[in-house]
Amino acid sequence: MTKKQKRAEILLAQEKLKTEFLANATHELRTPLAIMKGNIDLALLEKGNSKSITDTLSAVNTEIKILSETLKDLALLTSTPKNTENVLELTDVDVSNLLTKTAKRLETVANEKNIKIKIKKERGLMVSGDEKYLEKLFLNLIKNAITYGKDNGNILTKEYKDKNTVIVDVTDDGIGISEEDLPKIFERFFRADRAHSSYQNHSGLGLAIAKWVAEIHGGSIKVKSTPGEGSTFTVTLPRLKD
Ligand code: ADP
Repeated sequence: MTKKQKRAEILLAQEKLKTEFLANATHELRTPLAIMKGNIDLALLEKGNSKSITDTLSAVNTEIKILSETLKDLALLTSTPKNTENVLELTDVDVSNLLTKTAKRLETVANEKNIKIKIKKERGLMVSGDEKYLEKLFLNLIKNAITYGKDNGNILTKEYKDKNTVIVDVTDDGIGISEEDLPKIFERFFRADRAHSSYQNHSGLGLAIAKWVAEIHGGSIKVKSTPGEGSTFTVTLPRLKD
């Protein structure tokens, strides 16, 4: 294959990805809009007493929140690496502090399912990164561990170091992920078990963002899972030496 042909092939593949991405994004944005329209149509039909107006506004409010979260996530995912360099505000980040802070933010959500979050710390592990984005990475992983964890279950985040890296495991004892789904879960908009009603409010962007954040920091993310037993997501980031 000539260089020109190779380049044409790459361009075609990129174009295909872009089209798929746009189709998925359009779908994700249309769903909340359709729900809002349905609620408003119904209220208009009923000539709205104050209870149905309150219900309608509350339903619309929920959908607006989902819509703006999805738009924020989309903006993040479509920023090119060149933009990213300008976007990242690098500081020295203490991984232990970051995990404690992130877990605290999710405490009330975990309490609703009586899930305990345990943090196994190793003090003094530092990375150079944008704290805002790194927090989003771990927030997405712990939030998923709660969402797909079982009631009265446990989540363990464990941090440790290797020669040049900091490693964080986020382990839950929840529903787990099938072998068939495992290679797909980091794809944008992928959701396993779409029919399951209690998981429907999720955009399917959380892990794509987590992977993106790990990679723009020079790191990686991987997963091991056993259906019915639970999952472990492992994040590896370059370590700042003391
Ligand atoms: P979502 O918004 O659907 O949670 P994510 O990108 O965060 O999107 O996750 C993609 C899919 O991967 C989820 O829909 C779920 O099927 C699966 N998943 C993610 N984390 C876990 C977990 N800890 N346990 C089981 N399944 C998970």
